[in-house]
Amino acid sequence: MPAKAGIHPRVVMPAKAGIQNRPQDILDTSLRWYDNILERFGMSSAEHRLLRQTLQNFVAKEIEPGALERDQKEHFDLNLFRKLADLGLLGITAPEIYGGSEMDAVAAVITHEELAYSDPGLCLAYLAHAMLCVNNLAVNASESQKKTYLPKLCSGEWVGCMAMSEPDVGTDILGMKTSAKRIDNHYVINGRKMWITNGVLDASGKPADITYLYAKTGEQISTFIVTPDCEGFSVGQKIMGKTGMRASSTAELVFENAKVPVENLVGEEGDSIKHMMRNLEIERVTLAAIGLGIGKRCLDIMIGYANERKAFGKPIAAFGQIQQHIANSYAEYQAASAYVYQTAQSDMSRLNSDGVKLIAAPMAKKVADSAMQVLGGNGYVSEYVAERLWRDAKLLEIGGGTLEAHQKNISADLLKRGGFESCGDRF
Ligand SMILES: Cc1cc2nc3c(=O)[nH]c(=O)nc-3n(C[C@H](O)[C@H](O)[C@H](O)COP(=O)(O)OP(=O)(O)OC[C@H]3O[C@@H](n4cnc5c(N)ncnc54)[C@H](O)[C@@H]3O)c2cc1C
Repeated sequence: MPAKAGIHPRVVMPAKAGIQNRPQDILDTSLRWYDNILERFGMSSAEHRLLRQTLQNFVAKEIEPGALERDQKEHFDLNLFRKLADLGLLGITAPEIYGGSEMDAVAAVITHEELAYSDPGLCLAYLAHAMLCVNNLAVNASESQKKTYLPKLCSGEWVGCMAMSEPDVGTDILGMKTSAKRIDNHYVINGRKMWITNGVLDASGKPADITYLYAKTGEQISTFIVTPDCEGFSVGQKIMGKTGMRASSTAELVFENAKVPVENLVGEEGDSIKHMMRNLEIERVTLAAIGLGIGKRCLDIMIGYANERKAFGKPIAAFGQIQQHIANSYAEYQAASAYVYQTAQSDMSRLNSDGVKLIAAPMAKKVADSAMQVLGGNGYVSEYVAERLWRDAKLLEIGGGTLEAHQKNISADLLKRGGFESCGDRF
């Protein structure tokens, strides 16, 4: 089509941050770099390397091409999500006997970092399924519940979510209002859950196949497995207009005298704190890993652009202030990366899972901001990717615990222990 009169087609820079054609030698260097860092922490393995390599190929071929469109259309692509099952990722930490891949937390970090390199929104949907729902069930559910639910969740036939937050309660989660009362062979559940990733799966309002739900039984909190056939359970609203993470769907869930069979109680009544504590660490470490993916991609974007873009007769990479963006971003990414991998390998305590998210979330936002700055006007438009990642990064400072909640937890833990040297978590 000829350009409309008076409107010139925008000139697009060659380094449009695409990853489909990343040269193999660069990918090999990157894999060697990860081998070194993992080895230094005693966690190198052929399995981890193969996982990263497989993911890099899959991401370039399957995920990157539609990432921009999914963001623009606020579209969760269920078919694409299900392809992750072919790589054994949907039950990455679940035992093999239930169809999982039985891999470790380092593998979960690698997966989240590589998926988020291209599409943090899709990666958030993955996290909600694989970490918040599947891993939770694998750790806390009974044998019979695992046998019933895990194979279908690991194969991608079913998609899961976890419902904890409410319209009036997030950080202060023990103050949740949703209640469950046992009547004969059922629990009757009343209340609303808010911000639930994967809470709705498509435009028709189809709910998740499994909702891992927290509700109050008296003063204590209990955990339930809710399926779509449960009478009185529905999707309240699909939440549109999110700043970022728009390739994931987010919903409000409604429970109006919802009848959940007693066999869907996970553990005993009042066990939820135990359940949350057993799963919280991997949730936060993998959220931090999404920050690593964003940081790494933004570094690639700004380095590629700085070498190509010219001003005052030279590449902008020649200017000290541009170098400062690149150098600071690199060092901050490396620091966060070392802390995340070390924590995943050796110390999944609350202290450090709060710590890695407190560091990696602002790092991701800051590095994305630097990438936008290096790209100038091009940084402000979606084709160059950095602005999407900058919007996605903001969620990491809120979801899965706000920065303030992490600060509160870390200081509480350290103060209780009486000092840093005695905390036992020093690397
Ligand atoms: C896109 C998205 C996806 C999400 N996915 C899920 C999901 O799948 N499942 C789920 O259960 N939840 C989910 N959440 C909810 C998320 O975990 C909560 O938004 C988060 O925990 C914060 O709760 P809130 O929004 O109620 O904020 P509030 O708790 O109301 O906090 C508001 C502000 O007050 C601050 N604040 C609160 N208490 C304190 C304190 N004691 N000291 C200092 N400051 C304080 C907070 O840090 C924050 O700045 C999601 C949220 C979003 C936006």
